[in-house]
Amino acid sequence: VGVGYRAVKPTPIAGDDRPVLTIDLAAIVANYRQLVARAAPAEVAPSVKADAYGLGMAEIAPALAAAGAKTFFVATLAEGNALRALLPAAEVYVLNGLPAGGAAALRAARLRPCLKSLADVAAWAEAGDGAPAALHIDTGINRLGLGPDEVAGLAADRRALEGIEVALVMSHLACGDDPEAPMNARQLAALGAAVAALGLAGRPRSIAASSGIFLGRDYHLALVRPGAAIYGLAPLKNQPNPMRQVIRLEGKILQVRRVDSDMRVGYGATHLVRGPGRIATVGIGYADGFMRAIGNRGFAVLGDRRVPVVGRVSMDLMTLDVSAAPPDLVAPGAMVELIGPGHSIDELAAEAGTVGYEILTALGRRFRRVHLAAAEPGA
Ligand SMILES: *Cc1c(COP(=O)(O)O)cnc(C)c1O
Repeated sequence: VGVGYRAVKPTPIAGDDRPVLTIDLAAIVANYRQLVARAAPAEVAPSVKADAYGLGMAEIAPALAAAGAKTFFVATLAEGNALRALLPAAEVYVLNGLPAGGAAALRAARLRPCLKSLADVAAWAEAGDGAPAALHIDTGINRLGLGPDEVAGLAADRRALEGIEVALVMSHLACGDDPEAPMNARQLAALGAAVAALGLAGRPRSIAASSGIFLGRDYHLALVRPGAAIYGLAPLKNQPNPMRQVIRLEGKILQVRRVDSDMRVGYGATHLVRGPGRIATVGIGYADGFMRAIGNRGFAVLGDRRVPVVGRVSMDLMTLDVSAAPPDLVAPGAMVELIGPGHSIDELAAEAGTVGYEILTALGRRFRRVHLAAAEPGA
């Protein structure tokens, strides 16, 4: 379980029944600084794609820049344009590469594509102005990047690289969260071989995202590209999480129902409550990214007590068996913790059969969102 979420209560708004998502910018900055210390002297270039993993790029990117980050990664041109408007001086790499016909738009916003194919390389070189870009080498994940045949072709005829300032040669690990995976070392070696074959030995290299930073010095190279760890997710599987927790998600109890005799709960009547007991209905559902998969599997936290999710999660509601919770905490209007110090994102993800990345990026748009400032007085 991650540590150190600041216990600051957002100001209540009368009549507001929305779940509250609190995002601690100071914890985000602390996580960034921890990675800077671990990866030094490599540069730490945060990934803020997908609206900073659903947590708000407009608040998070400036906070990271104020803490010293100079280079950022996004997925798309549209995200790059949004980041450029926030940070006029940052270096911004676009992970998905060069969209067809998009070279002029990227240049206009001074964005750097991660060139993923010979077609990308040719299209970027066409303008002949030596604009900087990353060269993305696929060393085994088989997703984006120049494959071995394309690297060999380019090595045999380097003319296509003329007109491009290769500011970074990058690759991405398939099994970075598993220090035992032999594939990590193979991919690192393949990147080195590609760099040598292409005559780019002097150029900065990058292979590590969050988990790669924790594989040790060999993987740091010139630059690391963490996202998940900055947002508090555990970088390595089956190991304690050294990152600070960043978010807290609380939902409001709308109704409490007493169950005197055996009764069933929710759509499909999938859960049987053995009376006597109490069921609390909370105003959050799968339309908020609170996944249906946690029906009859997940937990919430009331006080210091874990209470099970019972019955199916529906669009706007879910139900908790609060029979064992302290009665004074169970009342309409009371808040239950869904993600926070007592229930981490990674735990919720395990209950839902997914990864923390999907939980974060699915978090809903109808929450009340509160960003705690990076520098709070006295923090
Ligand atoms: C998303 C992404 C990252 C960041 O990954 P995390 O696991 O969130 O740290 C880095 N590099 C590439 C190529 C990515 O797609």
